[in-house]
Amino acid sequence: MHKDPIIGIDLGTTNSCAAIVEEGGNVKLIPYKGGEYTIPSIFAIDDKGNELIGYEAKRQWQLNPKNTIYGSKRLVGRTFQSDVVTAMKKVVAYSVRPGKKSEVVLDVGKKEFSLQEISAKILNKIRDVAANYLKTPIKRAVVTVPAYFNDRQRQTVKEAGKLIDLEVVRIINEPTAAALAYGLDKGSQGTFAVYDLGGGTFDISILKLVDGVFEVKSTGGDSALGGDDFDRAIAQRVLQALGETAPAPGLVAEVLAASRKAKEALTDAPETELVVGAGAGAHHQTVRRSEVEEWIRPLLQKTGAVCRRALKDAGVTAAELDGVILVGGSTRVPAVRAYVAEIFGREPLGDIDPDQVVALGAAV
Ligand code: ADP
Ligand code: MG
Repeated sequence: MHKDPIIGIDLGTTNSCAAIVEEGGNVKLIPYKGGEYTIPSIFAIDDKGNELIGYEAKRQWQLNPKNTIYGSKRLVGRTFQSDVVTAMKKVVAYSVRPGKKSEVVLDVGKKEFSLQEISAKILNKIRDVAANYLKTPIKRAVVTVPAYFNDRQRQTVKEAGKLIDLEVVRIINEPTAAALAYGLDKGSQGTFAVYDLGGGTFDISILKLVDGVFEVKSTGGDSALGGDDFDRAIAQRVLQALGETAPAPGLVAEVLAASRKAKEALTDAPETELVVGAGAGAHHQTVRRSEVEEWIRPLLQKTGAVCRRALKDAGVTAAELDGVILVGGSTRVPAVRAYVAEIFGREPLGDIDPDQVVALGAAV
């Protein structure tokens, strides 16, 4: 491994991922313990004051919701009064407060954190894992952000790096990174759509390759639409089957976790058994892929409307595109792939794992 390497980091809303280009030119993902390549973008402080990041934070989330920060990327570089912050405040269990300059402040374990500090915690974890794996200190990184991020939001990510002495040598757009991972910059020209459906957000970007550089022609999205909504669509039916009209928060969390597991199993199997609880009193329910596809159809149609608008804003038709790229863990769902093919009238590119493609491109 060369000295002072630069790693590529996909700092995601739900999960983050890192990759590196090896000396021979191979692009490689950096593995975490347990063979996983992505790490939950979650930061928490437990009742003993220990800081937890990634899987450790996710594991205790249900027991410690007030001190567990997830989805905070949506708050990055936003003012407390903004619509996104107002909407987030209603759905998260942690405290979201205004700071002195109307920026957002989060309280975790009786301490106050800026969004820079939370992002820094996650970046630092990724850097540590990479340094351990590569057996060399990591001081530089390329970090990706959504194409619609403004200067203030990009600056926040750079500042997060500074806090931990990690130089963010370049901020690049997530869709551009995905296009680089597919080597689309090797062509002479072309127009591409990048359809990114993650855990809690949907983004569509139309990119145009001009003289080897990608220009963003238009972006669109929904900051409150993603795989979590698929989980909720399933959970709603499970709670109905359980006869629960006013379920306790603990039960809701448990049903949501079971629903997510079932959803992911249905990516590979036509049906699965969802289980809530344990032992003799456990609730068992067979969930079929075909029924879930019906439940999520309205959500997919929402993404379709956003895609049509983005095409229009970019001044291109679906037929004029040279390719469509799938990004985000939720695009593994067969119905999502089929829907993307339907709206764009072509098979999308999806051979590279959609939750790793952005990190791989960042490394490139
Ligand atoms: P983000 O960009 O928001 O950080 P990701 O791209 O990691 O998020 O996507 C996370 C979402 O992908 C979650 O909703 C998760 O349940 C979903 N997901 C991951 N794997 C699968 C799978 N095999 N089948 C269906 N959904 C999946
Ligand atoms: Mg993502």
